[in-house]
Amino acid sequence: MTISNRITPEDVATPSKTKEILKRHDLVLKKSLGQNFLIDHNILNKIVSAAELGPDKGALEIGPGIGALTQQLAKLAGRVLAIEIDQRLLPILGETLEPYPHASVVHGDVLKQDLPALFRQHFAGVDGVSVVANLPYYITTPIIMKLLEEKLPLDNIVVMIQKEVADRMAARPGTKDYGSLSIAVQFHCEAELVTIVPRTVFVPQPNVDSAVIRLRVRKAPPVDVADEAFFFEVVQASFVQRRKTIYNNLAARFFSKETKSELEAILLACGIEPQRRGETLSMEEYARLSAALQAHGCK
Ligand code: SAM
Repeated sequence: MTISNRITPEDVATPSKTKEILKRHDLVLKKSLGQNFLIDHNILNKIVSAAELGPDKGALEIGPGIGALTQQLAKLAGRVLAIEIDQRLLPILGETLEPYPHASVVHGDVLKQDLPALFRQHFAGVDGVSVVANLPYYITTPIIMKLLEEKLPLDNIVVMIQKEVADRMAARPGTKDYGSLSIAVQFHCEAELVTIVPRTVFVPQPNVDSAVIRLRVRKAPPVDVADEAFFFEVVQASFVQRRKTIYNNLAARFFSKETKSELEAILLACGIEPQRRGETLSMEEYARLSAALQAHGCK
């Protein structure tokens, strides 16, 4: 679908329109809720294009603010659901979304929502849902982990987040940014950086750099893991002290002084040198290692 660059009169994502709305509603933005609103149409276009929406698709937005992104989603998607925590924004959203009856707003904290129930209620009959958002930065990771762990029927997640977190989500083994977050995200998705975003496209400007990341949700994980919870425990334990070896981190978590010599044999049998650091292991190596530790009786 082609995406129009034309700004329509009802669009709020311009500096003057956003300032006018905030002034008219006497609204002071809350830093504590991560309220940095987008005022640049080109960035909005890049975000919505990356989500690959269409009239048969649904879009879930977390934190619509005054509706800058919501309006663009509503122009492309067949159904839009936006979840906003700040009650003061609801009357403004009523105005900005007035031309789009297929867009609904739910008031509440996204982390407390029963998302499967909201999906049944709002996205029945759509052919795939994308999460598209300029996320509140103070809870980026909990939101993404909730979306992934609840195994919602998602096509992709296209979100604006802190650049530093985007780098960690997309990092490859052996790099300084690679860690348990990279593995958690890449177990569920293919991660790709869409664009880096200057601070000047927000009101007010945030004090961190931002990036748009696209997470294409996988149909199945890229590695065979019998017990996901235990796999992620092994991954977490391996990064508890980044500068320590995989042997030292895993010994501290799963072995006693008397039994820790067994760990060396397990690592070597998995083809992993005990002196390596957690940040050098691929997801396949973690899968092999967690299966071997579990077979050994580790819990
Ligand atoms: N989408 C708008 C835009 O791009 O201009 C606003 C984005 S602003 C970065 C984040 C939005 O998330 C704010 O509107 C804020 O009130 C909302 N928010 C913060 N915490 C939230 C939560 N726990 N649940 C739902 N919305 C939240």
